[in-house]
Amino acid sequence: MRQVFVYFLAFASLFGLATYNPLWAEIEAGGSVKADACAGDTTRLGVSRVVEIDATGGANIGGEKADAKHLLNDGEVVLSFDDGPMKSVTRPILKALADQCTKATFFMVGQMALADPDLVKEVVDAGHTVGTHTWSHKNIHVISTAKAEQEIEAAISMVSKVKGSPVSPLFRFPYLNSTKQTEAYLKSRNIGAVWIDIDSKDYRTRSPKVVEQNILAQLAKEKKGIILMHDIHPWTAAQLPDLLKELHDRGYKVVQFVPKGQVETVASYDAAAEKALTAKLAAKKANPMATRAIVWPMSPTPEADPASAGSRHKSSRYGKIATKPTITDGISEDSAPVKIPASKSKKAPKSKEEPSPWQFFN
Ligand SMILES: [Zn+2]
Repeated sequence: MRQVFVYFLAFASLFGLATYNPLWAEIEAGGSVKADACAGDTTRLGVSRVVEIDATGGANIGGEKADAKHLLNDGEVVLSFDDGPMKSVTRPILKALADQCTKATFFMVGQMALADPDLVKEVVDAGHTVGTHTWSHKNIHVISTAKAEQEIEAAISMVSKVKGSPVSPLFRFPYLNSTKQTEAYLKSRNIGAVWIDIDSKDYRTRSPKVVEQNILAQLAKEKKGIILMHDIHPWTAAQLPDLLKELHDRGYKVVQFVPKGQVETVASYDAAAEKALTAKLAAKKANPMATRAIVWPMSPTPEADPASAGSRHKSSRYGKIATKPTITDGISEDSAPVKIPASKSKKAPKSKEEPSPWQFFN
């Protein structure tokens, strides 16, 4: 990979492309991650190119905060799915992507990864990029900086743990809500924040057709962009085969993000994640029929959510009903309470909120 990257740079400088933002590097037209069976198949969407992202020192990728304006060319899209994985939805999404030989980025919630470690591996094995989306989808705006850091680190350690290798340094803020402090924290951790350009608004409807139309209508206007979808909504999975076919037929090209490096996990969080995973596997062994799934109920007032699954706001600022995730299995929530250590950050929490104990199942 590094060799290819070097060759590209040499090639780029030869043809006067040195002005290309160094944050991004196209590494292989056609996409090195493409499965052989898909190579050269123009009847399917495929991956037109792979963009390697160097998140060293942090980065804002896509959306209005984008550090690199020319990341995507007209006609190019990036597919992204937040909030999962959730077997009943993620699996059909993986199938739809595979059927079109294309790749996406999944921003996983730590709790969801713990709920179904094997499913995380399925996503990874299919060649998709995996980033994180906090431990429990907290709105960063309404929690302390210390708590936000815990949310970020717990997800990174857990997803890395179940994935079997460090996760990519790509992060998406729940509800696209960031704070200056958490943005600075991500930079200090060499993690890139991935924003969005095209909002499927799949949290506002249950209609597959509407989700597809939302995406295609915005794309027709914007010409390109990072598309936000959620792999917790059945209607999102239901519309995906048709959406991908439409993207292909309309001439759009899919770009896959791949990380240049991997995020360095924090040892104390790794230990806590290991403990939680061990407890989870032991519980499953004791009761093989139990399937742990976290259910995000649909919000009754989805219009209030600007950019994410509108079901989990605890904040009254959105007029939402508090919707604590429900663990729907035979395992008591008390069966595996694991305390997460305080953040490695030495900074004192900005609020009086107790930074710990942090529990995986809270
Ligand atoms: Zn989300």
